[in-house]
Amino acid sequence: MKKTATTAAPTTTVACPQCGATVVWTSASHWKPFCSERCKLLDLGAWANESYRVAGVETADVSEIEDALAAFSSGASRPH
Ligand SMILES: [Zn+2]
Repeated sequence: MKKTATTAAPTTTVACPQCGATVVWTSASHWKPFCSERCKLLDLGAWANESYRVAGVETADVSEIEDALAAFSSGASRPH
């Protein structure tokens, strides 16, 4: 019984820059070097946040939450 490693090319793997997951580097990997579209978008979002951070991202996030709460309560609150 003889085993040789000549059949397949060595698999190249990289660590996803976003979550650190192992990504197999093949032509079929659409999101490389990321593991998924989600991580790619998250990383792009992080870059966008970096450039907006000067203006203050926290206030934008709070108003987003308030908008969501207002939309929720206006739809959910009904008089008895
Ligand atoms: Zn990832």
